Amino acid sequence: MSLPSASQRPLKYLSAYPAQVTAQVQQLLADGQLGTVLLRKYPSAHAVRTDKALYDYVMDLKNTYLRNAAPINKVSFDSKLQVIAHALGTHTTVSRVQGSKLKAKHEIRIATLFKEVPDAFLRMIAVHELAHLKERNHDKAFYQLCTYMEPDYHQLEFDVRLYLTHIDAAGKLAWPGLAGSPASGPGG
Ligand SMILES: [Zn+2]
Repeated sequence: MSLPSASQRPLKYLSAYPAQVTAQVQQLLADGQLGTVLLRKYPSAHAVRTDKALYDYVMDLKNTYLRNAAPINKVSFDSKLQVIAHALGTHTTVSRVQGSKLKAKHEIRIATLFKEVPDAFLRMIAVHELAHLKERNHDKAFYQLCTYMEPDYHQLEFDVRLYLTHIDAAGKLAWPGLAGSPASGPGG
């Protein structure tokens, strides 16, 4: 065991991962390379810009993998979900259904942050929220459902956590393909 240097803060989004992993991430942060690594692995942003497009995106996943799960009434980006602790397995339960009268109204909210990320990250969070239609807790059955919908789920969740760590340390990345970014294509 070595003591952390003064510049190192605990990586709150990666606390469940082995020390050798977090040490590597700390090193990337110290070298200013974490963003480079993420951009190399995920070169561009997805194109889901609106709540309507997000609804279609989530419903496409649902109709492919969870056709028999409870219906979804609404899907939207939510700018108030600044901290996505719930989505990241910390069991901070966000009550989505307020009041017992609103029975079986399933609404999926995704932090606005995920409007400006690679497709893989949006897919990870969409799969996570869809899995909650069937499994409330972050238990084995829940993660089996996640990996059923997205075999690479665990890697993607780790990479999303890496990105959140990057945001904490250095801010958001400007993924190519975002509206207004130089690399965005002609569309169509
Ligand atoms: Zn969750």
